[in-house]
Amino acid sequence: MEVNTDKKAEPSGDIPETVGRDDEERLAREAMAVRLHAYAPYSHFFVGAALLGSDGKIYTGCNIENASYPAGICAERSAFASAVSAGCRRFLAIAIAGGPEDKDRASGRTAVLPECPPCGICRQFMREFCGNRFPVILVTSEKQFRTVTLGTLLPDSFGPDVLSL
Ligand SMILES: [Zn+2]
Repeated sequence: MEVNTDKKAEPSGDIPETVGRDDEERLAREAMAVRLHAYAPYSHFFVGAALLGSDGKIYTGCNIENASYPAGICAERSAFASAVSAGCRRFLAIAIAGGPEDKDRASGRTAVLPECPPCGICRQFMREFCGNRFPVILVTSEKQFRTVTLGTLLPDSFGPDVLSL
């Protein structure tokens, strides 16, 4: 494992690598799959996120609710926490799939979902590690998705670069 000893994050949205259609589809599939692991007994809204690191690995996360509601965590931050914990701090793209709980789990991966954009807290959380051009893939099915950028979702944002004046 590559150990990153820098204390600071490495905003990666402006790094030259791009994700192709194959990567987008792979991320969409992974987001749909991990979504089925969501722990959402209160909202019954299942969300999965698949985050592609610059190390080529995909880090996944799902939403995890709590009886003390604010203690829960979103799928996106869960995926970032998994990646950073594994030593990865540079990212190429994230895919997000969310929608009501599937009563029939077997059909969960083939569901057609509404778009599930990241909440404000997650947008800011991503901004710590990603720049304006970071692709956010809004998944509606394994083959259908729309890609927007973090800069579109969080314009004129506050990030670590602002503190490095
Ligand atoms: Zn969120």
